[in-house]
Amino acid sequence: MDESRDWLARSRRAVWHPCTQMKRHERLPLVPIARGDGAWLVDFDGRRYLDAVSSWWVNLFGHGHPAIKAAIKDQLDTLEHVMLAGFTHAPVVELSERLAELSGLGHAFYGSDGASATEIALKMSFHYWKNLGQPSKCRFVSLENSYHGETVGALAVTDVPLFSATYAELTRAGLRVPTPDARLALPGETDFDVAVRAATALENVLAKRHGEVAALIVEPLVQGAAGMAMYHPEYLRRARAACDRYGVHLIADEIAVGFGRTGTLFACEQAGVRPDFLCLSKGITGGFLPLSCVLTTDSVYDAFYDEDVTRGFLHSHSYTGNPLACRAALAVLDLFERDDVLAVNRAKAERFGRLMAPLAAHDATRHFRHTGMIWAFDVDSPRADFAPAFFAAMLDKGCLTRPIGKSVYFMPPYVVGDDEIAHLVEATLATLATLAPGAADDSPETALP
Ligand SMILES: *Cc1c(COP(=O)(O)O)cnc(C)c1O
Repeated sequence: MDESRDWLARSRRAVWHPCTQMKRHERLPLVPIARGDGAWLVDFDGRRYLDAVSSWWVNLFGHGHPAIKAAIKDQLDTLEHVMLAGFTHAPVVELSERLAELSGLGHAFYGSDGASATEIALKMSFHYWKNLGQPSKCRFVSLENSYHGETVGALAVTDVPLFSATYAELTRAGLRVPTPDARLALPGETDFDVAVRAATALENVLAKRHGEVAALIVEPLVQGAAGMAMYHPEYLRRARAACDRYGVHLIADEIAVGFGRTGTLFACEQAGVRPDFLCLSKGITGGFLPLSCVLTTDSVYDAFYDEDVTRGFLHSHSYTGNPLACRAALAVLDLFERDDVLAVNRAKAERFGRLMAPLAAHDATRHFRHTGMIWAFDVDSPRADFAPAFFAAMLDKGCLTRPIGKSVYFMPPYVVGDDEIAHLVEATLATLATLAPGAADDSPETALP
């Protein structure tokens, strides 16, 4: 207990925590974690928390997976790092080849986190058109409620006012098109109809403005930070067709949904489309090391290939293609093959869906939805502090969840089992009972994802 208190105080003094109004930690204590163990996190008193959000969607196979750990340890004995400009190494070559084979996109550019992948894709798209003599194609189209990261360029295509509004003067606003979020279905409409309606709006914008548009950026199938807004793959099919018709790139931001989260290795596969740029990060190393990647086509690559140095893509990050991170990513891809993860997850998702039936049927839940290994529902609660109250109540019951506004979601590590999901459902039902309509609203606050 003493040790744990000490970490809390020292952390508040020295660490500026992300996505946090630090003053809130006067009342809402930080959770000091001593170690990880599969789907669980363990604090200094030995209390265990089921990591139902895969630690912000990165720990695909839970914590401390032995195969990923072993690969990193092995790599540590040979090469921890070498700069990637002018040099190369086995892990980055092997990873690029395997990602090319899996995605059909043959050229891999690396960064260290998701937002840098977004920046790379945006810059590459713009620079491509410039190299082709079309510098007026310099704007980006993004979806309502989109999230593509928090750096200045990525914020320009992010539509979460809580994150972006403060910095509006710093960013160059892009064009925003309606979201195909299936929750927006009008009476009598299906999710397919919503997708068609949103795609038609996109087509109209591109028809008028394509001369100034470099790319459309989307989160395929699930808009994560929007509260796990899910939509029909028809939207991606039509978006791809519209981009082709009007000479606009399609950037698929699969930073959150890549690596099996939606049921296929990449979400775009469910629409049968190939993007011009595929952004990957989060689960790519199973949560062991920061790494991101932008995969692109021969045609984009060729537009930069020239004697003229300034026609090249001169972007860089110091840790680009870090060997340890690439080895972790290779170990993740090995796991997908070795354990037939996609098929195993399909069976798991079916069983988990049955275990979650009481949540879908609950009086206080709306729009219960599911794609692959993501489940979400909205809660009918009058409490403005619903998200932090739900978080705290669940933590008390040994579950780590982080509702986004009044949307509760589960994005469990793939190693999670039926008993653990049953525990999660039980804790959620008990928590919903305490936060039901009519319960006291004692601290109105804005909810952070
Ligand atoms: C998390 C996320 C990002 C940003 O990644 P970071 O590693 O946090 O910079 C971008 N796009 C999507 C869809 C994300 O979920």
